Amino acid sequence: MHQEVAQWFRQTARDLPWRGDCSPWGVLVSEIMLQQTPVVRVQPVWEEWLERWPTPAAFAAESPAEVLRAWGRLGYPRRALRLHAAAAMMVEKYDGAVPDTFAELLALPGIGTYTAAAVAAFAFGRRETVVDTNIRRVHARLVIGQALPAPALTSAEMKLAAELLPADPAESVEWNAGVMELGALVCTARSPKCDLCPVREQCAWIKAGQPEPTYIPKGQPWAGTDRQVRGAVMAVLRAAEAPVHADLLWGPATEQDAAAAHLAHPAGVAAALGKLHDLNTHAPQLRRALAGLVTDGLAQHSEDGYQLPR
Ligand code: SF4
Repeated sequence: MHQEVAQWFRQTARDLPWRGDCSPWGVLVSEIMLQQTPVVRVQPVWEEWLERWPTPAAFAAESPAEVLRAWGRLGYPRRALRLHAAAAMMVEKYDGAVPDTFAELLALPGIGTYTAAAVAAFAFGRRETVVDTNIRRVHARLVIGQALPAPALTSAEMKLAAELLPADPAESVEWNAGVMELGALVCTARSPKCDLCPVREQCAWIKAGQPEPTYIPKGQPWAGTDRQVRGAVMAVLRAAEAPVHADLLWGPATEQDAAAAHLAHPAGVAAALGKLHDLNTHAPQLRRALAGLVTDGLAQHSEDGYQLPR
């Protein structure tokens, strides 16, 4: 399996800018962005970020407001603030370098076991057990013979992933990257392309007659959720250069109010406000969204209104 996957990876892998000749900082930024956002949306933002902030020190020197603006619509913006805090720690503790061991990476703000293992492996060539959703799905099918892994990561899965890892560090890195890419391109969640799979002959799920999943994975609803409202409010604050008065977020009471908002803020704010108001959010949900953004450090509130953290 190791050889088949490695060969397939060398021939088929996507040419992504955070692979190959990329700085550890570039790898770390990519891993944070890719946690909950697809490659196609991440790549342009990643390129912009690395151009603008090529090192942790350059990034740490930026204001949180600018970081959140540049994060744009990647979603889950707390990731950007945590990366900002991690960059500050790298400057303070590691002379502006990305630390190169799993334990040091794990100690950075907002870095979990997956990201620490992935950066240690892909940026520094270390032998680490990397387990993300794509890898879990491939292991479940290829080795266990199940259509899907368990709903939440189990210790048995971690043990299996560790057992499957090649002993040689370079081979282990290629295996981690190869299985991850196989899950992203071929062994996909809804419609695996088994005809194109380099390990079809060994696949336990195929041998078992492709049994159906034992549960239906929960999708992540978006419409009507607090996340949607928070996203719409963040779009307003990103577009604004000055505090946005709470009355505007609730919706202008009169046409004069709307005209005043146009005059007080750049045009992008009116457009983003329009999208927020189109949601017709009921009062408790908007209150909850605003309070949550302030609690999470994504917004500041004063008598002048709401704005990105300074
Ligand atoms: Fe996945 Fe199909 Fe390959 Fe098995 S044969 S690992 S199910 S793509």
